[in-house]
Amino acid sequence: MKRVTEPTRKDYIQSIVYILLYILAISVGAYFLLLKYWYIWALVVVVGLALLVNWHKEKTVYSCPICGYVYEISFLVDLTAPHGFDRDGAWLLLRCPNCHERHKTKVLKRTG
Ligand SMILES: [Zn+2]
Repeated sequence: MKRVTEPTRKDYIQSIVYILLYILAISVGAYFLLLKYWYIWALVVVVGLALLVNWHKEKTVYSCPICGYVYEISFLVDLTAPHGFDRDGAWLLLRCPNCHERHKTKVLKRTG
């Protein structure tokens, strides 16, 4: 049985900080690298995004609003699924592997 919990405000802040750091690294990198060393800059963009998405994937699980099934998603799904935010917190538009319904699915945090 997977141990999951609701994400806290701290988790949201951590996510935002990581995303801002990534944007900062790209911006600063663009300034210093883009003209002469664009391939290094491209590498920073790709590796940074991969690390960010992988970190998000490792940390989160999803609970189907229809059948309650709790599941993980792949790197590619995490990268490409529509994301959003409402009063209840963060969500992704995902297809449940259990009931195959496509729904706004709440993001939960993995604890164990
Ligand atoms: Zn389901």
